[in-house]
Amino acid sequence: MHNKMWSRVTGICMLILLLASAVPVKAGQYYINELLDGNPPHQVLKEGPTVRVKQPGVPKPAPNEAQEQSAAKTEPQRRGKVALTFDDGPDAHNTSAILDVLKDENVLATFFVVGEKVQRYPAVLKRIFTEGHLIANHSRTHADFALLTNEEIIEQELNPTSKAVEKLTGFYPMIMRPPYGSLRQDSVTYLREQGWRIVRWSLDTFDWDSTRNKPEQILSRIQTQHHNGAIILMHCNGPATVRVLPDIIKSLRDLGYEFVTVTQL
Ligand SMILES: [Zn+2]
Repeated sequence: MHNKMWSRVTGICMLILLLASAVPVKAGQYYINELLDGNPPHQVLKEGPTVRVKQPGVPKPAPNEAQEQSAAKTEPQRRGKVALTFDDGPDAHNTSAILDVLKDENVLATFFVVGEKVQRYPAVLKRIFTEGHLIANHSRTHADFALLTNEEIIEQELNPTSKAVEKLTGFYPMIMRPPYGSLRQDSVTYLREQGWRIVRWSLDTFDWDSTRNKPEQILSRIQTQHHNGAIILMHCNGPATVRVLPDIIKSLRDLGYEFVTVTQL
């Protein structure tokens, strides 16, 4: 009797464990785990003489109640939130064009910037910041982190980039996305211990892939793979990205999504 009960209890526990572990895979958001179990956002390095600075917010449209009520009748049901993310900037032209679209559409996004480019295009970096977008770290040289030691990742790639951002904005990013999404498990553990929050993505637009990044292909991926909490991977230097961005925003809005930064998901 005792044995029977025990095996039932064990069986139920295993079922619960199985269900719990199946959730992220079922949701098609393998990488979102990285976002959810990380440290608090914007954490500042212990040893750095840095101060956490609140990013200035872009004023959100504040519809009055009557407008809101009439909008509720016509707007589709709210599906949730998505985060547009742009890697590899800033650059000479495209990043500014992306910022223009985001401003026109009153959308906030997250920019994973490369340190060498931050130094080359400081005015664009400052504009990202002053328009209220979240700035995160995407290495200094776009190196493959799987080939670096944990100390090299921090000292050669992450710290110099966040310091360059801080010098221009006063804001020290502690959120990172490894180039190519490439990161060893021991580095994941190490970076988390050091206070870094690792963010990958859950929807790849493939705007970086010249063989399959026509605007209609990118839009189609968004329309077929959208989900609540989506972290959408795009690139500042993606040739089709700027052209298709207004359609992406319209499409997701029509589906009922709200645009937020990765820390607001
Ligand atoms: Zn990249």
